[in-house]
Amino acid sequence: MITPTIRLYENDSYLKEFTATVVSCEEKDGAYFVVLDKTAFFPEGGGQDADKGKIGDADVLDVQIKNDIIYHKVNKPFSENEEVTCILDWETRFSRMQNHTGEHIVSGVIHSLFGYNNVGFHMNDTLITLDVDGPLTEDDIRAVELKSNKAIYDNKSVKAIYPTAEELSDYDYRSKLDITEGVRLIEIEDYDLCACCAPHVAKTGEIGIIKILSFIPYKKGTRIEMICGLLALNDYSGLHSMNKTIMNMFSAKRMEIVPAVERVQNEVAVLKAEIKKLMGEMASLKMEKHTNGNTVCVFIDGVSYDELRNCSNELIEEFRYCYLFSSTDENNYIYVVSSKENNVRELVQNLNKAFNGKGGGRDTYAQGKITAESKEEILEYLK
Ligand SMILES: [Zn+2]
Repeated sequence: MITPTIRLYENDSYLKEFTATVVSCEEKDGAYFVVLDKTAFFPEGGGQDADKGKIGDADVLDVQIKNDIIYHKVNKPFSENEEVTCILDWETRFSRMQNHTGEHIVSGVIHSLFGYNNVGFHMNDTLITLDVDGPLTEDDIRAVELKSNKAIYDNKSVKAIYPTAEELSDYDYRSKLDITEGVRLIEIEDYDLCACCAPHVAKTGEIGIIKILSFIPYKKGTRIEMICGLLALNDYSGLHSMNKTIMNMFSAKRMEIVPAVERVQNEVAVLKAEIKKLMGEMASLKMEKHTNGNTVCVFIDGVSYDELRNCSNELIEEFRYCYLFSSTDENNYIYVVSSKENNVRELVQNLNKAFNGKGGGRDTYAQGKITAESKEEILEYLK
């Protein structure tokens, strides 16, 4: 029987470097799974990813725990009983400790203010997602954020407690477990008490800042996205630099970007209306009109279906059948065929057939494309 791996991270979450003895090393699918007598590498669990780093000169790719044995997935083999020096990727681990402890505070504050429970938690290296089992408003979220950050300013202590089965019943803690043996509670003085296996910071001041990014209704409760510490600082730096670029683009002051953008949006709307009007005027100037009894044929070069449709809406008041064409290049034309109350389906079918065209529409309106040698060819056909 293999003895359980000693979990160094449980008593000292700041241990970045340690030596250990290789208990076993097994190869599987090109990777090696190393068991050490003790480890500071936190295995994936409780919503937190596995630590990264080095064992000797091998990269630690993953860490998993199974029946109290911790397996380090690495890219190089080791011999049994070998002494190895291990180094954690401390920047990643510390950021996770900041974020994980921050999540405890937010969950504890929500629990104390509203009585809701944390019913889901996930953390990656860019974001924390947590679900609580009750609704929250914008004002509630601001209150939670403020109180959580006050816990940071108060620089409260964060401790791991290992109560006996008898003692455990005296504790009112979040994330109640079915087990009573070997329960590890994380106590954030005055703010939270929660069962958790992961490493945390020792003082809340180390978290730096807690920022709630968003909240949405989720399964009768609320899903919250948040970041802490260095992640939040990086996020703020990114937003600040983006804000600076937009300030320059709109010649706006730091907090006056919204009215500046609204001004530009209004200008764009006015310009769009102006362009539409001018396009209509231009189309009627470029219009080349041929009439034959109750049918009109119009050519307007270089315009879109919109302009053809606008023109046809005027012409159908005067003519029974309206054919409008616009050349897109030498031999290709877009067309609109319309009538106020007569069916144009057959006319369009014939037009498509005669000029290898494509298109259709409703009884009184159709649009499409044809290929023709010249305008004269189209006029000749329509006669
Ligand atoms: Zn935790």
